[in-house]
Amino acid sequence: MEAKIKAFMDEVISRNGHEPEFIQAVQEVAETVIPYIAKHEIYNGKNILLRMVEPERLISFRVAWVDDNGDIHVNRGYRIQMNSAIGPYKGGLRFHPSVNASILKFLAFEQVFKNSLTTLPMGGGKGGSDFDPKGKSDDEVMRFCHAFMTELCRHIGPNTDVPAGDIGVGAREIGFLFGMYKKIRNEFTGVLTGKGLSWGGSKIRPEATGYGTVYFAQNMLKTRGEDIKDKDVVISGSGNVAQFAAEKVLQLGGKVLTLSDSGGYIYDADGIDEEKLAYVMDLKNNKRGRISEYVDKYPKATFHKGGSPWEVKCHIALPCATQNELDGNDAKALLENGCVCVAEGANMPSTPEAIHAFHEAKILFAPGKASNAGGVATSGLEMSQNSLRISWTREEVDERLKGIMKDIHDSCTAFGTEEDGYCNYVKGANIAGFVKVADAMLAQGVI
Ligand code: NAP
Repeated sequence: MEAKIKAFMDEVISRNGHEPEFIQAVQEVAETVIPYIAKHEIYNGKNILLRMVEPERLISFRVAWVDDNGDIHVNRGYRIQMNSAIGPYKGGLRFHPSVNASILKFLAFEQVFKNSLTTLPMGGGKGGSDFDPKGKSDDEVMRFCHAFMTELCRHIGPNTDVPAGDIGVGAREIGFLFGMYKKIRNEFTGVLTGKGLSWGGSKIRPEATGYGTVYFAQNMLKTRGEDIKDKDVVISGSGNVAQFAAEKVLQLGGKVLTLSDSGGYIYDADGIDEEKLAYVMDLKNNKRGRISEYVDKYPKATFHKGGSPWEVKCHIALPCATQNELDGNDAKALLENGCVCVAEGANMPSTPEAIHAFHEAKILFAPGKASNAGGVATSGLEMSQNSLRISWTREEVDERLKGIMKDIHDSCTAFGTEEDGYCNYVKGANIAGFVKVADAMLAQGVI
């Protein structure tokens, strides 16, 4: 089996050798899915995984825009249309200076499995730009979004490809992008999700990724007779996912000790309660401030410049910032401090060494493609509401979200439980996600 996995990865590396994040994501899937394929005759000899690692389409384009001083800038825009076997491409747009083809291909590849796990009819895609919204005025962000959509609009549509937000793309950016799509195409359709409530958005969509991550952690803890109440929780990031993960932890009676951004983390031993979280939301979403400012408002808390929250003693860790933010040493520190549960709100935040350490220690560990699928699942619900031209209540959407997260959890345990009873959620998520897409690809023939 080792030889089969190596031969497959050698081929992937020979084609994509300059794309480390993409190779990392494929390696993780190959290690769990290739042994499954070998045992199941219908998938054997069909090169199905090799077909899945090649994007159906990779679009790269120039985005030229003018700043407030009249200077002209050029950024690169992308859309990776990875797999449409089970539905239109679906996945977020990321605006961050680190964006390149490798990062977007890893995200698009993960998205295929994640969307399949939700059981909703959505294929996988991802896109974005190396544009940095930080420090830009609202007008500059608007001009960039309009320029970006001027090209993207010819590749997407409600039955073709439906983007959403991701790092650097929130409600403000989705509004500007939607406005330009509507103007060019002269149609009001559900071409983007994460829209404002008064123009086609779904209730609970902003909350869904963070809430879903915590629901997933709750499902995992339940298998060991535990829950979130009174547990110490460390969270990284302070953007969309981190904020609503924190909100749900508080609602369930847990204590949130940390939040972070790329400058460092804040530690509040008294806990970040509802009032303090409202301050963070205003600081980050309206004032576009830095998390370090928290200690000016709450001086009992401490700011740790350049550090990561994994050194803080906790029961539960929720990495909600970015890829590879939690490495082998961080995992060791978490385990030594008694952490029993890690649920990824971000995509691929744990390195392979960290995942290995969690599995060795047999703690509860959920990969992002399972635990953060609540966001895209609720995007799927937004698409349904747009098609039907109806709007479900907050309670209805939240109930569906809870149900979907429980179903994803149960699919993971069905495919990931090992002989000794330990659930390897990585294996479970990869195989459960693979089966549905592979079956559709086989039915549709070699295309
Ligand atoms: P966001 O609102 O833009 O927030 C991102 C947060 O992560 C910010 O606090 C940011 O800090 C921090 N961060 C970004 N890059 C970092 C780096 N290199 N080092 C340390 N911190 C960094 O984005 P988001 O929507 O919350 O997304 C967070 C993660 O969740 C991403 O991995 C994303 O792919 C994943 N995700 C999001 C959704 C969704 O619905 N939004 C769904 C599924 C998965 P700075 O402000 O300093 O950059």
